[in-house]
Amino acid sequence: MNGRSLDIAVVGGGLAGGLIALAIHRAQPMQRIALIEAGGSFGGNHRWSWFTGDLETEGDALMAPFPQTSWPAGNTVRFPAHERHLSGEYRSLASADFDRALRRLLPQDAIMAGTRVERLCEHGVELAGGGFLDAATVIDCRDAVPSAHLTGGWQVFMGRHLRCDSPHGVVRPVIMDATVAQLGAYRFVYVLPLGPQDIFVEDTYYADEPLLDRATLSGRIAAYCAAHGWTGETIGEETGVLPVVTGGDFAAYRREIAVPGVALAGARGGFTHPLTSYTMPIAVANALAIAGNAHLAGGELARFVDRRAQDHWCATRFYRMLGKMLFDAAEPDRRYKIFERFYRLPEPLIERFYAARSTRLDQLRTLTGRPPVPIPRAIAALLGKGRPLVQG
Ligand SMILES: Cc1cc2nc3c(=O)[nH]c(=O)nc-3n(C[C@H](O)[C@H](O)[C@H](O)COP(=O)(O)OP(=O)(O)OC[C@H]3O[C@@H](n4cnc5c(N)ncnc54)[C@H](O)[C@@H]3O)c2cc1C
Repeated sequence: MNGRSLDIAVVGGGLAGGLIALAIHRAQPMQRIALIEAGGSFGGNHRWSWFTGDLETEGDALMAPFPQTSWPAGNTVRFPAHERHLSGEYRSLASADFDRALRRLLPQDAIMAGTRVERLCEHGVELAGGGFLDAATVIDCRDAVPSAHLTGGWQVFMGRHLRCDSPHGVVRPVIMDATVAQLGAYRFVYVLPLGPQDIFVEDTYYADEPLLDRATLSGRIAAYCAAHGWTGETIGEETGVLPVVTGGDFAAYRREIAVPGVALAGARGGFTHPLTSYTMPIAVANALAIAGNAHLAGGELARFVDRRAQDHWCATRFYRMLGKMLFDAAEPDRRYKIFERFYRLPEPLIERFYAARSTRLDQLRTLTGRPPVPIPRAIAALLGKGRPLVQG
């Protein structure tokens, strides 16, 4: 590898890095790029889902080559006080399909899975085990790191893909089944019918601590499946412990982890939906914006991405405020009330919420009416500092 000279090195072949590499290759096929991923495959072990309305036309075109499961008949949410069917189409992509598609779509010499980067700098990357790759532009898309500069709580979950012995009978995704016991968090089960006998069941907690007890969650998924009559073979499992950011000093956070002259993108760069911790629509929009500016010199592109991150932080303040209500104003077992109430609002407002495109009027409508948390606690939460997002 020594001596190879690149236009762009993308470090970290997760969702963000993979989409950035693909978007650049589509927009500027002559650019010599490399997508450098420490793991053996791109995307790790994930299933990413999103609402069709989250993506603009261009974003849809970027995602089109990836095989997706889609549910045009809408989705369902369930709460103790009401159940609702929403018409928004839902989609899902498995990381194994993401990996296969990227290997097909990117130039062969761009694919560098199984390669860990030891050090990044403005002029290139040093590979673990030796070797330096010169690159005019370096984009950092390594995983997000916990930071004491940010505050909030955690989204902890475990998902299981089950191949049932007989048809499960579920026709549309259940985005939140919050009728389950709450167990000291906002807990809900998420269900995706992947095929007539294939079902994906995820047990999720908006919890104060980043603790994931695999055995306990596994038992709860099994109990939920058994209660619905779903038995069969486990095809795969995934887990996540994602920060739910409710505040902090974003500029200090980026300063802490940014490498001078290197563009910092992905969840690590702050390109997430603060409340859902999802990144798909934001990662797609960012990939397209970076591809449109891939001609910029490394340092300039780094500044461009930094400005986008700051703008994104400012534009998503409302979701961090809702997160404060969830974690700091509501009693853990009553957190579900916030979503129960939210899901009574008009469907277009709910769609814009997931896409992180809530209008001022949406924000007003979300906050008016009888609050689902006691007002003194809400005020204290808004004025409070929140808990630092550090693990261990
Ligand atoms: C299990 C799970 C399910 C999720 N489901 C959804 C969903 O349905 N919808 C949604 O929008 N979001 C979802 N998310 C949230 C978010 O979209 C994902 O976390 C997303 O994968 C973030 O993408 P990323 O590329 O920024 O980071 P990552 O996916 O974490 O990718 C970072 C990559 O960098 C690599 N890397 C790290 N260090 C180095 C190094 N030194 N050298 C080379 N490579 C390195 C890592 O191996 C990793 O592959 C989910 C998250 C998890 C964990």
